[in-house]
Amino acid sequence: MAVVEVRKLVKHFDAGRVHAIDGVDLAAADGEYLVLLGPSGCGKTTLLRMIAGLEQPTSGDVLIENEVVTGFPPRVRKIAMVFQSYALYPHKSVLANIVFPLKAVGMGSAEREAKARWAAELLGIQGLLGRKPRQLSGGERQRVALARALVREPHVFLLDEPLSNLDAKLRASARDELRRFQREIGTTTIYVTHDQAEAMGLGDRIVVLDNGTVCQVGPPVEVYDDPASTFVATFIGSPPMNLVPRDGVLVGFRPEHLLPAGEVRAVDRVNVSLTVERIEHLSGDRHVYGTVARIGEPTRVVARLPATVDTELVPGRTHDFAVDSARVRFFDADSGLRRS
Ligand code: ATP
Repeated sequence: MAVVEVRKLVKHFDAGRVHAIDGVDLAAADGEYLVLLGPSGCGKTTLLRMIAGLEQPTSGDVLIENEVVTGFPPRVRKIAMVFQSYALYPHKSVLANIVFPLKAVGMGSAEREAKARWAAELLGIQGLLGRKPRQLSGGERQRVALARALVREPHVFLLDEPLSNLDAKLRASARDELRRFQREIGTTTIYVTHDQAEAMGLGDRIVVLDNGTVCQVGPPVEVYDDPASTFVATFIGSPPMNLVPRDGVLVGFRPEHLLPAGEVRAVDRVNVSLTVERIEHLSGDRHVYGTVARIGEPTRVVARLPATVDTELVPGRTHDFAVDSARVRFFDADSGLRRS
């Protein structure tokens, strides 16, 4: 069952001059972790705010549990939204912050507290209930915000870059925790990020957005291996997919699939003469930057070689590389769309 669905959703701002969302169809299944991924300004937050009811669509519909809720206020939508800035009340204790939404709906104090303790335990913050937000780390504050959302027992979680205020290390552990927690409670979650590593690690499916439209929807591996366009191919993956022009077609291959010719076992292969420019050593891998000369201007490419490949490579020289044909993807040079 689709718990959240949007149909032909459109949102224009500034009398139609800004097309923030331009005809989006999307459905999140029960218990699914759906990640909205795209560059800054592509419309992720606007889409999430329309699902929450904080923004009204120009046209199209939002459905929650098969009921059209377009035009309904946020409080009747059975959703909880956690933003980038957690917006905790600074003068209230952690406990008072968590029970706040329950107080607003008139729940009795004993029940409120029991619920808050349940949520705090689930998130591992039961020892912090007496503290004020300023006495917490960024990760702890995020968990308080989640606990506050959780006590309302929402049917859907909407999370808008909830980890963006954390440093890289804390972010990685908070990401794992979020995933574990969501698996435990099984609540359908829609998660906004512009960080592709976060999307790859968290999502059951990723929705790649650009310019207010959906470019591709699929499990992380599928979006990575079979990008629907050059936009997806280069937005996902670091370094991104190599694209080499050839007769109206762009030949695409991931850096980890471009290897010294002797390392490619497949008989069916694409040979590449790579003129090496520089080599970077990154966590055991060698990133080899260089150019390939096809027709016209040389194209820049990068190869990622694992530590097990010890072929000697010399900057300034041209080496024989190859790509297994099964790993090569073709895109239309004009539209950028995948050719089957
Ligand atoms: P980011 O990752 O930077 O938060 P985003 O993908 O979430 O970006 P949105 O915030 O949804 O993008 O914005 C989409 C587009 O709509 C942008 O061009 C933005 O400038 C525009 N926009 C958003 N809100 C408004 C508004 N209230 N009035 C006018 N334009 C808006």
